[in-house]
Amino acid sequence: MSLNVINFVYLMAAVLFVVGIKMLTHPRTAVRGNLLSAVGMALAIIITLFDHHIIDFKLILLGIVIGSGIGALLALRIKMTAMPQMVALLNGFGGAASTLVAGVELMTRGEFTTSFTVAVAASGLIGAVTFWGSLVAFDKLQEFVLKGNPIHFPAQQTVNFIVLGAAVAVSALIVLFPENAALYWVLVGLASVLGILFAIPVGGADMPVLICLLNSYSGMAACATGFVIDNSVLIIAGALVGSSGIILTNIMCKAMNRSLGNVLVGAIGAAESGPSADAVYAGRIKSTSAEEIAMLFEAASRVLIVPGYGLAVSQAQHVVRDLTHLLEQRGTDVMFGIHPVAGRMPGHMNVLLAEANIPYDKLKEMDEVNGEMDQVDVAVVVGANDVVNPTAKTDPKSVIGGMPIIEVDRAKTVVVIKRSLSPGFAGIPNPLFAKDNTLMFFADGKKAFLDLIAAVKES
Ligand code: NDP
Repeated sequence: MSLNVINFVYLMAAVLFVVGIKMLTHPRTAVRGNLLSAVGMALAIIITLFDHHIIDFKLILLGIVIGSGIGALLALRIKMTAMPQMVALLNGFGGAASTLVAGVELMTRGEFTTSFTVAVAASGLIGAVTFWGSLVAFDKLQEFVLKGNPIHFPAQQTVNFIVLGAAVAVSALIVLFPENAALYWVLVGLASVLGILFAIPVGGADMPVLICLLNSYSGMAACATGFVIDNSVLIIAGALVGSSGIILTNIMCKAMNRSLGNVLVGAIGAAESGPSADAVYAGRIKSTSAEEIAMLFEAASRVLIVPGYGLAVSQAQHVVRDLTHLLEQRGTDVMFGIHPVAGRMPGHMNVLLAEANIPYDKLKEMDEVNGEMDQVDVAVVVGANDVVNPTAKTDPKSVIGGMPIIEVDRAKTVVVIKRSLSPGFAGIPNPLFAKDNTLMFFADGKKAFLDLIAAVKES
């Protein structure tokens, strides 16, 4: 096939990516946008198969079968609540693929230009950092070996800078002596250590920022690999992932009230530094029942529902919608307060509530609900913990210190629905549960809402 046709189809694919991403900015157009981008990707893959570089279709088919098999199995088996781990792994595989492709190109090419060797070094460096950083992030979220807390050791920053300096120096050597392929694998080794060092100090509530940043890195690595193999659609797609990832990272940092540097250095203290759960809760917890909450609803004109990770675990979104309808039929104003890092992935709560057809205009952002909190009669916190923890405001040394929260403690009454007094992702106790205006309803999220619906119908 002629190069002009291939490049034209690549251009079409790139336009579809950009238009698709633009359409993702509104829930009404998001599904079509996703489909459009997928069509763009299918076009890019199909036309690449006709590219004159590619000769061995058998190997490609084998790769597609093995890769699709593993991907489909993972996607079907993974729980919605484990999506961040899955995303972390996928970012990591992207980085690993870039590293390997660039390495093979370096070893098999006879002629080297400076732009080629610079791109190879960038692919190896960013790709390996992405792969190992993502594995650490995956493990921190899954808690196989590492716990979610930040890990610190003496002179950590100095060690990081030394390894980074060595990696940059070896990159320069690759550009100068490209025929020495061993240098490339030395770079990959150093970058792998750097990836681990870069991810371990991040922990607690900062994990979403790390995942977004690694997502961006995987795009940058792919972009560099696009230059290595001279493939324009890979350059464009990589640049899109890299730039959108960095924009999302910036949004997440703002939501957490942190600078990126602060997140990466892991400047926040360890979770153990705060008070124990016993000190926070002893003798101060008041539990309640569905009937008592139904009575509160009867007297309330404004109800705020604040969902968190537990909503996803219990899959309570449909029964939450049913209760919302019931209360609205009785003249109560119901709205939802959405914290930007609630759940385990950006937009997690929006996706769940959209799945239950809860109208988008009922979903209010954190700043908006905080502005109206004094008029809220009952705030119902379902499966959320860190995002409503007042410690974020009162203890700057805490793992969540400085993170803006949904200030439900300012509502007239707070009802917290969760199964126990167990901590959330950040692993710290929540003084909200012990406040005078808080009532705890200990139950699974879905069961609690089913009981509430029955109690409201009976009242
Ligand atoms: P949290 O992790 O703080 O708390 C979730 C709470 O849900 C737990 O305390 C748990 O209590 C409760 N829960 C679990 N299962 C159920 C169930 N079946 N029914 C009812 N409740 C249940 O969640 P938040 O959403 O408040 O905060 C998100 C946290 O995750 C933040 O720290 C954020 O930084 C972090 N994070 C966010 C990511 C993102 O992109 N959004 C990605 C990675 C991390 P109990 O066991 O007692 O029921």
